[in-house]
Amino acid sequence: MSNLIVQKYGGTSVATAERLHAVAERIARKRSEGVGVAAVVSARGDMTDELIRQAHEITDRPPRREMDMLLATGEQISVALLAMALDRRGVPAISLTGAQGGIRTDQVHTKARIRAVEPKRLIRELEAGKVVIVAGFQGMNEVEDITTLGRGGSDTTAVALAAALGADVCEIFTDVDGVYTADPRVVPNARLLPRVSYGEMLELASLGAAVLQPRAVEVAAQHKVRVEVRSSFNHNPGTVVEEMEPMEQDVVVVGVTHDRNVAKVTLRRVPDQPGVAHRIFSALAEGGVNVDVIVQTTSQQEVTDMIFSINRDDRVHALEIMERVRGELDAGPVETDEGVAKVSIVGAGMVSNPGVAARMFGALAREGVNIQVISTSEIKVSCLIAEEEVERAVRAVHDEFELGEDPEMERRE
Ligand code: ASP
Ligand code: MG
Repeated sequence: MSNLIVQKYGGTSVATAERLHAVAERIARKRSEGVGVAAVVSARGDMTDELIRQAHEITDRPPRREMDMLLATGEQISVALLAMALDRRGVPAISLTGAQGGIRTDQVHTKARIRAVEPKRLIRELEAGKVVIVAGFQGMNEVEDITTLGRGGSDTTAVALAAALGADVCEIFTDVDGVYTADPRVVPNARLLPRVSYGEMLELASLGAAVLQPRAVEVAAQHKVRVEVRSSFNHNPGTVVEEMEPMEQDVVVVGVTHDRNVAKVTLRRVPDQPGVAHRIFSALAEGGVNVDVIVQTTSQQEVTDMIFSINRDDRVHALEIMERVRGELDAGPVETDEGVAKVSIVGAGMVSNPGVAARMFGALAREGVNIQVISTSEIKVSCLIAEEEVERAVRAVHDEFELGEDPEMERRE
């Protein structure tokens, strides 16, 4: 559909009645310009965390299907209230659950992926002149059970809807002004990036810059959806995420990210034989555990150590799987370390600049930060370090690549 925009509002943007009215006001204004609006909304404030807490009050191991049933309620509150706020303004609006909005997912409860969007209902409501408000983060699987898309999943709902509806743009409204060269809470002179490519944004998102769910960036890149990350607290333009010509990407490092949601797992004395890594990582994959950095030490007496990092939230689940695999392989003990964090540099020009990684290691060395594990790709270099050193490390690396706001410039403004 042309002349249509998808807007996503995060949890802080709808946390209070006042905030919710501000969102309704913004939507109403857009619509008065003659633009169709499909809005995707997250659960209010800390609602999702609160629901998770309630589940754990009942049991340590809530069934994942029931977890989805529970968590999906958070977004339903938001869509209904927003529809009411629009109705009060005389703006025709309708709230829809993910299932009603045609979001079809696979079967993986709590981490489902969107398989298809069936936009018939949405199009019908939009054509009737209504603002449609779709519950983010949720969908329905083949057997008509409610699924959720993993933390931050409303972003993915929004981008998938924008793709399915052929919207002109997907605006992601959040509580920060856009995507920065580093977390501004850690690096005070971090700079707002006006534009980033899908590839860079994907790395920034996966490496811990929590402004967008990585999956949302993947979907945007696949369908060439123009995404704008901006604040719901002001009218500043924010950061545009779009396809960029390699020519434009002569900047080597665009940002430094850090991630504390990391645990390091070590499986000792793994037999050094073909098929062993496959056994370990396919078991983790089947269990829905995402593995990030992987290192295998050199073989000594026919055994090696397998070291890898996972999300800290997956720790209990991963340990169960590893205990099983350990038995099957007759390997040594499984050890986990939660006192680690990951610092990374991201930039599309890195492939052709071999000195970049060396500069990062130099900055960490001067700061006295020990690197435990390194991994590199075409557009990033990541280091696992001790968690308590993470803020110092980010500032040192950010300075090394001169990413900050120029203090001289600031004074002149
Ligand atoms: N409410 C969910 C969460 O907190 C989804 C989202 O906000 O995107 O993760
Ligand atoms: Mg969120």
